[in-house]
Amino acid sequence: MGMLDARERERRRAAAAHSLERLAGLDVVGVALTWVDNAGLTRVKAVPVERLEHAAVWGVGATPAFDAFLLDDSIMSGRYSGGPIGDLRLHPDLDRLTVLAGQQGWAWAPVDRFDQDGREHPQCARALLRRTVDKLAQQDLIASAAFEIEWALGRGDAPGFIPAAGGPAYGMTRLIELSDYSRDVLTALRDEGVVVEQYHPEYGAAQFELSVAAEDPVGAADTSVLVRQTLRAIGQRHGLRTSFSPKVLVEGVGNGGHVHLSVRGPDGPLLTGGAGPAGLTAPGEGFVAGILDRLPALLALGAPSAASYLRLVPSHWAGAFACWGVENREAAIRLISGATGSEPTSANVEVKCVDAAANPYLLLAGLLAAGHAGIDGASTLPPALDVDPSSIPENERAERGVLPLPADLEQAATAFEGDAELTAWFGPELSATVADMRRAEHALTHDMSAEEIVELTRWRH
Ligand code: GLU
Ligand code: MG
Repeated sequence: MGMLDARERERRRAAAAHSLERLAGLDVVGVALTWVDNAGLTRVKAVPVERLEHAAVWGVGATPAFDAFLLDDSIMSGRYSGGPIGDLRLHPDLDRLTVLAGQQGWAWAPVDRFDQDGREHPQCARALLRRTVDKLAQQDLIASAAFEIEWALGRGDAPGFIPAAGGPAYGMTRLIELSDYSRDVLTALRDEGVVVEQYHPEYGAAQFELSVAAEDPVGAADTSVLVRQTLRAIGQRHGLRTSFSPKVLVEGVGNGGHVHLSVRGPDGPLLTGGAGPAGLTAPGEGFVAGILDRLPALLALGAPSAASYLRLVPSHWAGAFACWGVENREAAIRLISGATGSEPTSANVEVKCVDAAANPYLLLAGLLAAGHAGIDGASTLPPALDVDPSSIPENERAERGVLPLPADLEQAATAFEGDAELTAWFGPELSATVADMRRAEHALTHDMSAEEIVELTRWRH
C-alpha cells in the first residue's frame, strides 16, 4: 500500500460503496474505527454509516499524540511523540469490515494511519506488520498466527474484582454457571466470522480462555482486537466486567496472550518434517532460535505493562525463563507438534511469555522480524528443556544458558534498544517511542505496590 495516491483513493471509494451495499438492511448505524496504541489499548473514532465512504477515501482525523498515551490516559513526552501539533488520518480497512454481534447497530473496521499527504505514518503498527509479512514473502515464507485469549469475569455490580463464577478450574460447574453468557459469546463470534477452535474455563478465578484458528498475521491481530471487544460487549449484556489484564488479582495466575506461529517455505512447513531437533527443518530451527535469542527485547512488545511482570513469574505457566521445550508449559517457547499424523497442519510454536496488554500488531511484527533474522543468520537452538526451569538449581540454569527474562519494564526497554535488528526494522521513530513508553509506564508505576498496579491496570486493556 505505502502511499494513498488518487488511484488508491478511488479503489477505496469503490470498496466503500461495496461495503455499504453489504450493510444495507442490517440496521447498522455507526462504524467503530479502531487502532491499538503503544500501551496496548484499543482506541476508537466512530462515524455514522453515511460517512463511511468519506472516511474510506479521506480518513478520519486523529492526533499523533495517541502514540504517547499511557495506560492511565496521561500523555508521556517521548522523542517522537506526545506533542499537540499535527494530524493523522485514520483509514478503515474495509476488507475487514465486520458487523458487531455484541453491539447492536454497530459495525467495526481496523484502521491504518497515514499522514495528511497520504504517506503511511512511521508509527502505524498495522502497517509495520504488513511490511513484515511482505518481507517474509520476498523469501517465499508465509507465516500464520493466532492469539490465545484469556480473560477473567468480574461482577459488574461491585467495585474491585469479585469473581463472577465460583466453579473450579476447567470445571463443568463454571461453564454451567456462565452457560448463557458462554453461548452468547460463541454465537456472536460465529456471526462475526471468527473461527473459534476451543473454549474453556481456565485456572484463575472466573477465568476463561478461547483459541481461534490461525490466519495471516494481520488478520490474526485484527481478530484478537475483534474477539476482545466482542467478549467485553457480551459480558456487559450479562452484567459482567471483562479483564484482559496480565494480572487481575495479585495472587494466582494471570491472563496470558500466548501467540501461536507457524511458517511455510516453498517446500512446505518449516516446523515439522525436518532433521533438526524435534523435527524442525533447518530454517524452522533458525526461525524459533531467532525468537528465543531476542526474547528479552521482544518483551518490550509482548509484556508492555508493569502488570506484565507481576504475571511473568516462575511456575505460573507464563514462561518466565528464556528457554524452549517440546510441550513444556513452563518454557517461554513451547513447541507443539500436534497429534501424531497431524503435524503438517498442526505443528506450531507457542510464545508464552507475552500477554494481552501487548499491541498485537507490534508484537507479531517483532516476533516475525526476529524469526526472519534467525532464518537469515542460520541460528541454532540450545537443547530443549524438559523440566520446569525453576526446578533447576540457579548455577546450573545459568550454565545451561536458561536465563530469567527481564524483570521489569526498564530492563525490557533496555534490551529492546540494544537489539540492532529489531530497532532497525521498527525504524527510529517507533523504536524510540516503544522504549520511551515502557520507561514512562515504569516511572508511573515503580513506586506503586503490586495491589496498586493491579488496580490501575485491571480494566484498561
Ligand atoms: N494463564 C497462564 C498465563 O498467564 C497460561 C495458562 C495456559 O497455559 O493456557 O499465561
Ligand atoms: Mg490458558
